Amino acid sequence: MATNIFGRSRRRLTLLYAIIMVLFLAVLIFTVRSTMEWAITSEQARELLDTAHDVSDVQEYIAGHPGSIPDETPEYKSSNDRLFFYVFDEDGRLVNFARASFRIEPFILDQIAAWQSAEDEVVVFTQGGQKPRPTKLMMTSKVIRLGDGVQTVYVGKDITALYYGLEKATYALAVTGVLMLIIALVIAHLLSGRAMIPLKTAYEKQRQFAADASHELRTPLAVVMASADLLENDPSIQSPFLKQVIADVRDEVKKMTKLVSDLLLVARSDNQALKLKPSKFDFAAVIGQTVRLMAPLAEQKQIKIVADNLPRTIVHADEAKLKQLVLIFVDNAVKYTPTGGQVTVQLLPADKGQVRFSVQDTGIGIAPADQEKIFDRFYRVDKARSREMGGNGLGLAIAQELVKLYNGHIGIQSALGEGTTFTISLHLPGK
Ligand code: ADP
Repeated sequence: MATNIFGRSRRRLTLLYAIIMVLFLAVLIFTVRSTMEWAITSEQARELLDTAHDVSDVQEYIAGHPGSIPDETPEYKSSNDRLFFYVFDEDGRLVNFARASFRIEPFILDQIAAWQSAEDEVVVFTQGGQKPRPTKLMMTSKVIRLGDGVQTVYVGKDITALYYGLEKATYALAVTGVLMLIIALVIAHLLSGRAMIPLKTAYEKQRQFAADASHELRTPLAVVMASADLLENDPSIQSPFLKQVIADVRDEVKKMTKLVSDLLLVARSDNQALKLKPSKFDFAAVIGQTVRLMAPLAEQKQIKIVADNLPRTIVHADEAKLKQLVLIFVDNAVKYTPTGGQVTVQLLPADKGQVRFSVQDTGIGIAPADQEKIFDRFYRVDKARSREMGGNGLGLAIAQELVKLYNGHIGIQSALGEGTTFTISLHLPGK
């Protein structure tokens, strides 16, 4: 149980850390990508606007020097072959250009024909259906006002490589991030394990203390019990008052002995120190014995215990522990059933190493909200009633530990005021 708590806390811590790390990583990748995109596109846009400006200067120069020899004309030369421009006059005639690649030129001319954007506005077009990937073009336009007319320059650039470079960088960033995340999680798991060490030590000390204390208490309690027995049988004590005092002492010591041995069992189960002493026996006989043990108490409350026709079920298990297990359920059934009720114990035949038995009562029942909690240590639905019945709230917690030893399961069906049925399945090897 203790190892479960620590294991669970460790997994939860690691998971929480993982979620935080994933969030951080997502924000980081998103921010880096957006920043890179912004930096690249703003630089590209600036280059386009500068080029548009240069081209319009050239056009103005040509218009101002009509006689100049073409060779002397300061043409705009693109230093970058991905950059292109087309200049049209107001009649739609192409008057100057630096051509784009023939692959994308028709697409560019289509975009120019359908141009909607304002002057100096930078837009990105995607030409789908291109292999191996769609082409991305960034374009802008500028109107050149000459003395005798108006020209429009369209400048653009193929930014496909830049765009996919950015994609690749993002992808590489994400892969590195995920690798880092895995390393961080392994470290987190190791560190959370380390953080658990002092807690584990403290828990272990406390458990050891409970085990030692209950173990040490057993001897003095046995001595007190033996002394009370002696006094009870001493013929020289005749006073009814003293006899009552001795009987009360015996009762209390008996309760305390039970509490102490329950505590010891719980402390040992924490340490997985419960040792099994298996032997072969008939489980039906064990149930029969337990029922007989409870018979006097049941009779006092006029409760009928029905445990007939139990099929012979030979198992190989720890007899004392199974007896204790059956006793916990039958004892509870009798304790929490009012006078005149009935308790029924049934044993289903062993099937594939699974033995099932049920203890049904017509008692007070357990509210749905309490049905899980009753297996917690010291949990009692009605403390006063349980104490009055000699309960300490450890019975079902112990039952669960015992059932765990046999990889079993406890099922519960209950309705307030009508009764409760506990069904216990155990993986017990057969003959
Ligand atoms: P206790 O020593 O108090 O009986 P248990 O661990 O055996 O401790 O049971 C825990 C609580 O579960 C009891 O205090 C009681 O409130 C409830 N309980 C257990 N068995 C039954 C039952 N058969 N019918 C009604 N309530 C029950």
